[in-house]
Amino acid sequence: MPELPEVEHIRRRLSDRILGLEITRVLVKRADVIRLPVPVKARSKALLRNSRVKMLHRHGKRLALEVDDGRVVEFGLGMSGALLLEQVPSIPAATTHRHVIWNLQDPRGAQPMRLVWRDPRRFGGLRPLGSMSELHARFWSKIGPDALEIDEKTLARNLSGTKRVIKTVLLDQRVLAGVGNIYADEVLHAAGLSPIRRADSLERAEVKAVLRFLRRILVQAIEDGGSTIRDHQDPDGLPGGFQARHAVYGRPGGSCKRCGAMIHSEQLGGRTTHWCSGCQK
Ligand SMILES: [Zn+2]
Repeated sequence: MPELPEVEHIRRRLSDRILGLEITRVLVKRADVIRLPVPVKARSKALLRNSRVKMLHRHGKRLALEVDDGRVVEFGLGMSGALLLEQVPSIPAATTHRHVIWNLQDPRGAQPMRLVWRDPRRFGGLRPLGSMSELHARFWSKIGPDALEIDEKTLARNLSGTKRVIKTVLLDQRVLAGVGNIYADEVLHAAGLSPIRRADSLERAEVKAVLRFLRRILVQAIEDGGSTIRDHQDPDGLPGGFQARHAVYGRPGGSCKRCGAMIHSEQLGGRTTHWCSGCQK
């Protein structure tokens, strides 16, 4: 499932190429990927037809495309959602599960493009909204601070206020937006903390370590294009590369790169958790 680095990489790759382009046509092949009710007649307009791409925003794992008149479409990538960018004409690499297609024209005359929402497993979806302020009021204000922006004081307060184990708390999007199973496991290993430690038992130095490695790991993962375990691909259809750096995630039975002990994997709060009992206390 895409987490902050995968979504931020997508945001950057798209921003480089579609800002300023005009959306001339919207083709909806599967209306049930639109997660807010929109009358059929108003659908193309709600999905940004006749506008110009102004900005791409991200909060946690969510992505939003804003156009020049203020309208917005927000994307939740779910398990397998992808935004693919294609030249027109071209033969698409993936021809199935293409649910929504935007035709993009460059007013400066460059070759037209197509932006495609593809989501084979359909846990993701789109939300058309009137403005960024509506998106904030209805949805983004209900999730916690972005994992790249949270400050030490807020993180310390959020961790000290709960008896839940640290792994579960890091996955809670109300506490911290953007971290999922992969990066929670990697951050806890880097910080030398056991995933089953109670969040309120962390010393200040340990909170600082969580924050330091959170930033370091997320930034490195963005540079690498994210982690591709199964479905994640970027707008060019390319996989990420950060999985090659994983210290614990996806390495059960392997040896710890830091202390040599064996990596364990166990279900914790319904999620497979990977850690080293040798050096995570
Ligand atoms: Zn270890």
